[in-house]
Amino acid sequence: MKIKTEKLTVSTKGNCDVVNITESVQSLIDKYELHEGNVTVFVVGSTASISTIEYEPGLRKDLPQLLEKLIPSGQKYFHNDTWGDHNGHAHLRSTLFGCSQTIPFIKGDLMLGTWQQIIVIDFDERPRERKIIVQLVGE
Ligand code: ZN
Repeated sequence: MKIKTEKLTVSTKGNCDVVNITESVQSLIDKYELHEGNVTVFVVGSTASISTIEYEPGLRKDLPQLLEKLIPSGQKYFHNDTWGDHNGHAHLRSTLFGCSQTIPFIKGDLMLGTWQQIIVIDFDERPRERKIIVQLVGE
């Protein structure tokens, strides 16, 4: 059993920018020639999330629209009073979606559906460089 930890850096535009990192995660399984195990993908920071989606243009518009209804960006948030920030909505969205996913792999392939990709969603209100920790456990 091996444990390998790697770091990815992803540039985002903020404001619900969705970045597909599936190929980068799969390439790490390939790099270490792992056959079976699981990979945890974790975004460092409290205004972004890791999730999965069918990465196509429609859903990339639907997702921000849904979030604008659930946790509107223009609303008053106590967090903004705490620090003089304007990103209370981004923190709440990150908490709702969570900061990591664990995905199994078998025969060296991520067990994702054909139309299921691993994504980073950046909820902050400005462009960011996101640090993603990818930890592989397997053999
Ligand atoms: Zn904040």
